[in-house]
Amino acid sequence: MKRKYILIDCFQDIPCNPCEEICPHKAIEVGSPITRTPRYYEERCDGCAKCVAVCPGLCIYLVEEEEGSDKMTITLPYEFLPLPRKGELASVLDYNGREVGQGIVKRVKNTKSENGTALISVEVSRAIGLAARNILIRKTDDSEPELVEGERESFTDFQICRCEEVLLSELRTLAKMGIVFAPNLRRFSRVGLGLCQGKACSELMFSELSNITGMTVGELGHPKARPPVRPIKLRELFG
Ligand code: SF4
Ligand code: SF4
Repeated sequence: MKRKYILIDCFQDIPCNPCEEICPHKAIEVGSPITRTPRYYEERCDGCAKCVAVCPGLCIYLVEEEEGSDKMTITLPYEFLPLPRKGELASVLDYNGREVGQGIVKRVKNTKSENGTALISVEVSRAIGLAARNILIRKTDDSEPELVEGERESFTDFQICRCEEVLLSELRTLAKMGIVFAPNLRRFSRVGLGLCQGKACSELMFSELSNITGMTVGELGHPKARPPVRPIKLRELFG
């Protein structure tokens, strides 16, 4: 008997629900408030993988397994170039980026028409299948991937703060103007001031700022965290 189901590594209370919206069978529910982590109903899921491609956190994976087989297929979202090719041998990485084994690329589906995230299906042994979170194709030469004009920019700029839709390029522009002290940067750009209050973006922001300026995280300064640590309704404060 074949079984298809998804794994969801979505643990933070961030305002996000494209997985819920795209699922044609209501197999994922975020509900209200939108900061809830998703619930999954396997009995409604047909394994279409639409949620795998749409998740901005790249944290949904499709598992296909067959009773009695010692292999399984994991479909992963993949946003690196060049894309792997069918039949290639891939190193399989776990949640922490550690290599846990090897797999064979079985399918490469480029869903550019949807959101530019490719879906890579890798056949792996059952022993490592559920740990697989990414793959690494070891290059045999040092040639750079061919990029069409403008493609590099579209792949390097991204929303560093999803709540307030602040782009990395905006942080770079502000840093060039000398606004690098993190509390000031927050006031100018609103990075970290959205619904998640910086839980999703702070670490990334500090790492990017440190790359841009060469300053240490300590030198960049920490914005003050003010309670409540997650958004709540006024009636929850006053009963
Ligand atoms: S794989 Fe398809 S049916 Fe299953 S949860 Fe994702 S979008 Fe819904
Ligand atoms: S990060 Fe992915 S899994 Fe989590 S709520 Fe957003 S779309 Fe769903």
